[in-house]
Amino acid sequence: MKELLTIDDISVSYGNIKALKQVSMHVNEGDVVCLIGANGSGKSTLLKSIMGQEPLDSGSITFDGEEICRAKNAGAKQGKRSKILTTDLIAAKGISLVPEGRRVFADMTVEENLDMGAFLVRDDALIAERKESMYDFFPILGARRRQKTRSLSGGEQQMMAIARALMSGPRLILLDEPGLGLAPLVIADIFEKIALINQQDKVTVFLVEQNARMALRASSEGYVMENGRIVLSDASSTLLENERVREAYLGE
Ligand code: ATP
Repeated sequence: MKELLTIDDISVSYGNIKALKQVSMHVNEGDVVCLIGANGSGKSTLLKSIMGQEPLDSGSITFDGEEICRAKNAGAKQGKRSKILTTDLIAAKGISLVPEGRRVFADMTVEENLDMGAFLVRDDALIAERKESMYDFFPILGARRRQKTRSLSGGEQQMMAIARALMSGPRLILLDEPGLGLAPLVIADIFEKIALINQQDKVTVFLVEQNARMALRASSEGYVMENGRIVLSDASSTLLENERVREAYLGE
């Protein structure tokens, strides 16, 4: 199977806080992969690093065979300098982030939010076609297309944030805590949509969650992060049975 995203030994810090410490992981094309970990363990920092929003102290990130971020020292022996593509360029290569807390544009309508998601797409007919397919896939968004986003429920806003991320036609979607603050039934709906996006649209999914049970059930491979380090990685079904995971993350 082809590795679509490869994170190789990256470290990231905020001043003297080391948020990521020598993190390595990969996401194969077509998979749903999850990263679980407690509050503050470094999950959001990892997603921001993939989107080129945080410079690396060490290591590199490769997407579809091309290095998109590299620390100063990573290629020093080969005479390479540090590299970081802008977030727009990374998005144009086919990665789309659904940020934590959804970050919807509350004063814009649903339709205007979806248009924002397509800002890299030049073809108006393609934008219109994608919007219609989003309204088919999330009928509630179709019904509310002219309403201000602030009038939507939390779950509807999360669906809109996912639809907005899909408007660029990504190959890999990064989801930062899609279940945060939502009721269990709503979370179940959202995870069902994520599975369909993966299976029908063939979008690879990298999912970051504090809700370990949902995330492990929804994915084939999982990573566990503690204090900026990956401490466990395995098939998600195996992690669900792992004693340390059961005690620390599944409340058993
Ligand atoms: P959460 O689920 O609460 O978002 P997380 O696992 O995503 O947690 P991060 O947000 O990546 O964790 O934070 C990792 C560490 O880096 C934490 O100690 C956090 O306080 C720190 N941190 C994050 N962003 C910044 C920042 N902009 N400046 C300074 N420290 C930061």
